[in-house]
Amino acid sequence: MFQRIARSIACILVALWASAAGAQQYPNKVITIVVPFAAGGPSDTIARILGQTMSASLKTQIIIENVGGAGGTIGAARVAQSTPDGYTLFVHHIGHSTAPALYRKLTYDPIKDFEPIGLINDGAMTFVSRKDFPAKDFKELLAYVKANKDKVNMANAGIGSASHLCGILFMSEIQTDLTTVPYKGTGPAMNDLLGGTVDFMCDQTTNTTSHIKSGKIKVYGVTMPKRIASMPEVPTVSEAGLPNFTVSVWHALYAPKGTPKPIVDQLSKALQDALKDANLKQRYSDLGAEPVAQERATPEALRAHLKAEIDRWGPIIKKAGVYAD
Ligand code: ASP
Repeated sequence: MFQRIARSIACILVALWASAAGAQQYPNKVITIVVPFAAGGPSDTIARILGQTMSASLKTQIIIENVGGAGGTIGAARVAQSTPDGYTLFVHHIGHSTAPALYRKLTYDPIKDFEPIGLINDGAMTFVSRKDFPAKDFKELLAYVKANKDKVNMANAGIGSASHLCGILFMSEIQTDLTTVPYKGTGPAMNDLLGGTVDFMCDQTTNTTSHIKSGKIKVYGVTMPKRIASMPEVPTVSEAGLPNFTVSVWHALYAPKGTPKPIVDQLSKALQDALKDANLKQRYSDLGAEPVAQERATPEALRAHLKAEIDRWGPIIKKAGVYAD
């Protein structure tokens, strides 16, 4: 109760400040982007490249703060409670839309507690394993995990993370339950995959591409309907053995609810400019991530997309019977 009143007062003060000072003075200090996963993983990479690019056009420093845990919900809760002054922003992925169905005690509302700024990118996931995992290709992976379900383990970034969602879809398709190992992000999960202490995972290409290319991990398939340009030799999961299996991960930029509209609009414009930047496009594309078209990098498009995704995932998750307290 006290928190809500304090937050309302903060919103009023920020609104007064914005109209008195004029939003054109924004930004005049460092902006923090909260990433709800550990450093080194896909969301961190997407946010860092975006932050570096937006920082040039906004003419201020942008730093990343990693607040990992519980599939992204700890970081989201933190941002929902932050001062809505444009100096705390949030990059999250598809998990922002699945959390309401997965978490029975969510302390925030992904729609009511955030100001959407715009979508950032769409990206593929890949099934990857430690280098010495016995399976050679996706068909062998399916056969091996089914035959060894009690000893194979699958890493993820916690309930509601993209790697977890991909994993539950995979297990439901092959009707096999595997042991899962949750991390605060797939950055640290990748370290364990490289070290050989976990067997396999499904993760975004932003985290897996360089290790696949250097031969440090094995890749079995990409989760998009079509093969992707950054690794054309890798089959899609649907062509390799699970027809209709597709998962695509989107990231988006938000501010806490109550952030003044002129600031949200300024950030949305900076986001759109960043997504047209040649260096950002190249870096994203090298990692298999695709910046969205300008019309999707807007508050309206993100608001509609988030709602549609919440409506889409709710029944799927309910049917799968997965939840967290
Ligand atoms: N890729 C992670 C996930 O599975 C999150 C991350 O570390 O970015 O959602």
